[in-house]
This record gives sequence, structure tokens and C-alpha cells, in this order.
Amino acid sequence: MDVKRIREDFPMLKVKSKKGYDLIYFDNAATAFKPYSVIDAVTKYYTNYSVNAHRGDYELGFTVDTLYEEARERVAKFINCEKKEVVFTTGASFGLNQVAYGYAGKHLQPGDVILTDEAEHASNYLPWMNIAEAKGAKLEFIPLDDNGMITPEQVEKMMSNKVKIIAIAHVTNVLGAEIDIKEISRIAHEHGAIIVVDGAQSAPHMKVDMKDLDCDFFAFSGHKLCGSTGVGVLYGKYELLEDMEPMLLGGGSNARYDMCGNILMKNPPYKFEPGTPPIEATLGMKAAIDYIDAIGMDTIYTYEHELRDYMLKKMQSELDNVEIYNADVESSIITFNIKDVFSQDAATYFSDKGISLRSGQHCAKLLMDVLQTPSTLRASLAFYNTKEEVDHFIEVCKSINKESMLDVFF
Ligand code: PMP
Repeated sequence: MDVKRIREDFPMLKVKSKKGYDLIYFDNAATAFKPYSVIDAVTKYYTNYSVNAHRGDYELGFTVDTLYEEARERVAKFINCEKKEVVFTTGASFGLNQVAYGYAGKHLQPGDVILTDEAEHASNYLPWMNIAEAKGAKLEFIPLDDNGMITPEQVEKMMSNKVKIIAIAHVTNVLGAEIDIKEISRIAHEHGAIIVVDGAQSAPHMKVDMKDLDCDFFAFSGHKLCGSTGVGVLYGKYELLEDMEPMLLGGGSNARYDMCGNILMKNPPYKFEPGTPPIEATLGMKAAIDYIDAIGMDTIYTYEHELRDYMLKKMQSELDNVEIYNADVESSIITFNIKDVFSQDAATYFSDKGISLRSGQHCAKLLMDVLQTPSTLRASLAFYNTKEEVDHFIEVCKSINKESMLDVFF
């Protein structure tokens, strides 16, 4: 993979920090930079065919409708499912809420159990917490192993005929643990449960194949995949989409309604897509998928893991002032703290040296108790990051001490 060439495609990688450093961006788990082809796709929409989708019986309307549905087709190919199983949403959060309120809200009975775990992002925990309370159901937590992993063996132990839903991430967003969804899907189905997968951190970094994983729902966001913000995907097996209530109602998602309280919804996926969608973002997401597929997801996966290994080994061998929380996890994320330095202060120090990385609790507040720390730093890599950037990061880590911190703050 020619990283130097690839970096030319990203205007953000030419941005300099206020102090003149080349920007080093290690917050890719939060959102990824966009290549020119994505920006062009968005601009092209506003420049050449800036009309609504699924509305107009005129030439530009047909053009946009065609492009919009081609984007759906492209997503279906990307995740290996049927086109009609691709629901466009505003992002992973919306997709997961839609399943919690629209599917679990319809089907859960008092006493039913939802399995989840302490490593989940708030978007795949809070909707389940709420719906469990509303329906008199119970949340139960799959214990994490020493590496913060959920193993199929642990899931198997938790199963009973009360378990109706397993809601877990494919790759967790703090430890980067890659969970064996295929095997957990098998276990879920064997016990008559469904599995809802938060794919926000897997879809951008590894091949995700709905037929192979055999999960029931899978949600992800376009913006972490080098696409635009404001759009995402909810995959659902078609019969489950048919059996789910829409969380929002409005124009475009119904076939008929009357004054006596009757509504006839359209078939999925359209019944979940009321109102004007972010058309430009959807076309941007298609361009992002084209871009990523042209490089090759397996190539990206291998490169990111090699780069992470390089970074981890350097941190372990050259630094004695860091505590690493996920050294034994296969991942493109390193979660750590600088010893005796509060994570936010450290992030400010890194920022002063041109490095953007995340500090805090990363929307996974339950996990902080497991890690026994109030907060962490998180460096999350992408395929456009380089060994040179890692080397600079290591030098900056070495320079953090009480005196150098004072230079930044005073
Ligand atoms: N789940 C995980 C694991 C995430 O990392 C994120 C984004 N931080 C989300 C869900 C939510 O994604 P979005 O904000 O795009 O809806």
C-alpha cells in the first residue's frame, strides 16, 4: 500500500497546527478524514443536481433518485446483503435506537433479558437500558475477560430462554477488542434470541459480511468510514425489518393514511426513512466506499494492524511513563495514560505538539470502572497514518514531564 500516495488524497493531512507542526491525527475512531473523491461527490450534488430524492417527477429528480438508490446498492454490495435490507439512517446511534425502540419495544415482555456488556459505547447501551426499563425487561452483563473481550463461551453461559436480545459491538471503541460475532450469532439463534451488532468501529477497518456474520441487525456510520457526517446504515434481515416499528414518521415512509388513525406504511427500507434524507452525505458515503474498496479492506486491515504493532512495541520498549490498557488486544487502537498526568492535560500537551488524540471516557463510561481509571488517552489509527507520525508521537511521549507540562499551561 502506497501510503504516501494515499495521503495526497486527503486535504486535511495538509493542515498545519497553529505552531506550524504537520497535523498528526490519531482520533480516527471518532471520525475519519475525507478524501477528495468524497468531497467532490458532495459538491457535485450541490452543484449539478441539488433537488430532493424520491419526490420529483422531473429530470433532476430522476437523476437524484437513481444516484440515491445506487448508493443503497453499493452499500449492500459492501456488506454483502440485499439492497432492500439497507436502511439509511443518520448514523450508528440512530440505527441502534431504532432497533431498541422499534423492534425490542414491540417484542419484549416483562422478565425478558437483554445481554450486553460494560465495554459498550453509550449508543449501544443507553437505548437498551431505557427500553428494558420501559418493558419490565432486564439487562444482564456478559463478563469481559482479562483483555476486555466478550467470548462466545461467556455468552453461552449467560444464555437462557429468557434472553431475547444480545446487543454488542463488533469492535469496541476503547479497547478495540474484535468480538467473534459469527459464533455469538450462532449461539443467539440456537437459543431463539436475536443479535444486534454495533458495527461503528468494525465497518471502517475490516471486511463485514452480513451473510457470513449472520447477525440480525448491524449499524454503522458513514463518517468513520471516510464518508460524510449525518448518514449511516442500519442493516436488518428483511423479515425483521418488516416486523419492526419505525421510530419516526413523516413524508415518504407511508403509502396511505386517513383521518381515522390508519396508516399504511411502505415496505422496508422506506418505512424507516421519513423526511428529506442527507442526500449529499449519502452520495458522499458511496464515494467513500468506492475509495476504500479500491484500496482493499484486507490491505487496510493489515496495514493498520502492522502500524499499531509498531507503535505498541515502541511504547513498550522506549517509554517508561505510560500505562497501556489494551496491549494484548488485536486492534488499531491504543488506550493508555501517561503516568501521574490527567488524560485531558496530556491531550492538551500532545495537541501543543501537533498531535490530535482523544482523552476522557470515550462514551464508554461503564468501562472506566473495569479499567480502574477515571479516564484514558486513546490513539486510534487509520490507513493514512505513518510510522514517521508514530515516531514523532513517541518523542512527544518521552518529553512529557512535570516541567514540560508547565510550559504548555503557563
Ligand atoms: N458505537 C461505537 C462503538 C462508536 O465508536 C460510536 C462513535 N463514537 C458510535 C456507536 C456512535 O456513532 P455515531 O456518533 O456516528 O452515531
